[in-house]
Amino acid sequence: MSVSGLCQICESRPAANRCPNCGTLACEVHFDESLRLCADCASQAQPGPGNDDVEINRF
Ligand SMILES: [Zn+2]
Ligand SMILES: [Zn+2]
Repeated sequence: MSVSGLCQICESRPAANRCPNCGTLACEVHFDESLRLCADCASQAQPGPGNDDVEINRF
């Protein structure tokens, strides 16, 4: 897959991938290979620190 243009996140590195979720061009730094998402989408898809493996607590 060839992508032309600059990473739309840092705008300083050549884009290596296009996010299939939002279409953002992302360089290899700003593209999560495991999630196949740009950094923006990956940060939204991944649970935040201390919030991983979210389960409903029953009181
Ligand atoms: Zn970048
Ligand atoms: Zn994205």
